[in-house]
Amino acid sequence: MRINVSQQLKAPIGSVRNYEVSEAVDVAGGSSLVQGEVKLIRTNRSILVKGRLNAEVEVTCSRCLSLFRCPLSVNIEEEYFPATDVVSGTSLPLPEEPGCFIIDEHHILDLTEAICQYVLLAIPMKPLCREGCAGLCPVCGHDLNQGPCGCLPRGQGSGRSKLDNLA
Ligand SMILES: [Zn+2]
Ligand SMILES: [Zn+2]
Repeated sequence: MRINVSQQLKAPIGSVRNYEVSEAVDVAGGSSLVQGEVKLIRTNRSILVKGRLNAEVEVTCSRCLSLFRCPLSVNIEEEYFPATDVVSGTSLPLPEEPGCFIIDEHHILDLTEAICQYVLLAIPMKPLCREGCAGLCPVCGHDLNQGPCGCLPRGQGSGRSKLDNLA
C-alpha cells in the first residue's frame, strides 16, 4: 500500500491523517488479506504510522497438520523518514538505525513491507487449528478430531507402528 505524503510533510507537526488499509500481502507462502485503519502523524523528523490491522493467514496446525486460516491482529507502530526535503528537494540525512523505513524521493510512503513484517511476527510458532486439537493418532495417523480410530491405547515405549511400516 503506497501513500503519497507530500502534502502531509508540508503540514505542521502533529497533523494527523487516517487511511483505510485493505491489502493482500504475501506472507508465509500464501496471500493474506490485511484490513484495518492506520493513522499517519507528522512529527518533527518523520511520519509516524500507528494502527491496528487484522489479517488471516493460512498455516499448518502443529498437531494435526491440517491447513487452516488463522486470524491475527497486529498493532503497527513505525516511523518513516523522508529521504528528500519536500520543499527544497535536497537529500536529508537518514537515521543510523538499521532497517528503518524511508519515504522515497517521490514522497511515497510504502506500508507493504511493514505490514508483512508485523503479520509474520504475529504468526504463532506452534499454531493450533482449534483449542485442544486432538492431533493425529501416533499409530495409524488418523485425525483424532474426526473421532477415534480404533487403535488400542498405548503406553510408553516404541513398538512398530503402521507409520513405521510405511517408511
Ligand atoms: Zn489441529
Ligand atoms: Zn490409530
